[in-house]
Amino acid sequence: MLVVMQSHATEEQIRAVCERVESLGYKALPVPGAGRTAVCITGNTGTVDLGSLESMAGVIECIPVTKPYKLVSRDVKEENTVVRIPTPLGEVSFGGAAIAMVAGPCAVETREQAFKVAEHVKAAGVRLFRGGAYKPRTSPYSFQGLGEPGLKILAEIRDKFGLGIVTEAIDNESLDLVEKYADVIQIGARNMQNFSLLKRAGRSKKPVLLKRGMSATLDEFLMAAEYLMSEGNYNVILCERGVRTFSDFTRNTLDLSIIPAVQRRSHLPIVVDPSHGTGRRNKVLPLSRAAVATGADGLLVEVHHDPDHALSDGPQSILPDELMRLMHEVRQIAGVLSRTIN
Ligand code: PEP
Ligand code: MN
Repeated sequence: MLVVMQSHATEEQIRAVCERVESLGYKALPVPGAGRTAVCITGNTGTVDLGSLESMAGVIECIPVTKPYKLVSRDVKEENTVVRIPTPLGEVSFGGAAIAMVAGPCAVETREQAFKVAEHVKAAGVRLFRGGAYKPRTSPYSFQGLGEPGLKILAEIRDKFGLGIVTEAIDNESLDLVEKYADVIQIGARNMQNFSLLKRAGRSKKPVLLKRGMSATLDEFLMAAEYLMSEGNYNVILCERGVRTFSDFTRNTLDLSIIPAVQRRSHLPIVVDPSHGTGRRNKVLPLSRAAVATGADGLLVEVHHDPDHALSDGPQSILPDELMRLMHEVRQIAGVLSRTIN
């Protein structure tokens, strides 16, 4: 159920509605929009007994929300959510007119390796650096990431290059550390339905980049985002990274059609990861072009100066000069759509 407030409703009127909802035994989550605030009622298992809610001061109407997701839905908030990431070199935003670029190695391997990639990322004009300090690997024998020392290297990269940091948390323990060092917390595909991790990330003050699970439906993807928002974190960026299909010439099948589908249903920004989405270096550029043309709010790409010796995801990591070319081409495609690159 959604309580739509008048555009000139006062703070007290909104608070009074929230208190009334809570006195009925439900949870009230106010969602401020550009023109008005909507109070989303959750915690109900059946229909909400409205009582006199609709006649309270400042209320326009109460609308039943039939979809399983509420806070992520455009029914609750019509305009796009813009997630703003402060970096030492200014803000990078997801969901506005500018398309946000995120690049870096799959994993932070050594200080030298991470610094070298960061230098190239910065030279290409990208302002968000992504590298994993905690890696969720299919094999327990594969490189698992440097852990906290890796996060410290990322913090040094922020200081030295002025880049914002995106890095993954794989469990509640690593999230405690990641939120201290990172500007954006990544939740990986394998953890999209790790509900305790989602709840913990939902209580964080840092924005979350949520990757689609490799076999997740659109509803499951949006419900995972709903977990984050229902705990109070409204700074959620969705990320399409490919799904499992019978196709055997790529690692995953990049499902670009989810972009307009998400945009119809949700106000949240959606970015595309063509690196995991294809698993092949030579397919990253064409799929990046396509993602931007389809309306993605950003791209997340893996880059390595020596991919043949990378400790993870070398085959899908593009080279620094390919990143330059990618930036040049997507900037032109963005221009056709009256968008810019940030
Ligand atoms: C990654 O971003 O390096 C990663 C492991 O991605 P995903 O969770 O999409 O597989
Ligand atoms: Mn990777």
